[in-house]
Amino acid sequence: MRKGRKIAGIAKDTLDFILEVSKSNHPMEFIGMLCADEDLITDVFFLPGTISSDENAIIRMDMMPVGLGYVGSVHSHPHPADMRPSEQDLLMFSKTGKCHIITFYPFAEDSWRCYNSKGEERELEIVERVLEV
Ligand code: ZN
Repeated sequence: MRKGRKIAGIAKDTLDFILEVSKSNHPMEFIGMLCADEDLITDVFFLPGTISSDENAIIRMDMMPVGLGYVGSVHSHPHPADMRPSEQDLLMFSKTGKCHIITFYPFAEDSWRCYNSKGEERELEIVERVLEV
């Protein structure tokens, strides 16, 4: 994790992908790490060895690839409009970067929130980018 980097936004296609994966895993939770290009989140990495259940998504820190420059985490909540981080989430947020996305059922365009490492809701701009073919 690089220190001192401020994350301003997320690429729209990355967010769409996250919501799509949340939806296809439902009612299971999924968990991943967010990676950024400069100040924009552009990638999500799904971690091997993460435990998914309808109660908790837990990151196995020992399974984290060395050198993965993540800036935060993302996971889904299977219950409708359940956007608040749990105690477990807050613990994970404090250890894994500055930007944490929670998606929640029904995983529509606005079914997500972003939090900082303290679990306070924060702004995250959605940026359209032109993908190279
Ligand atoms: Zn959670």
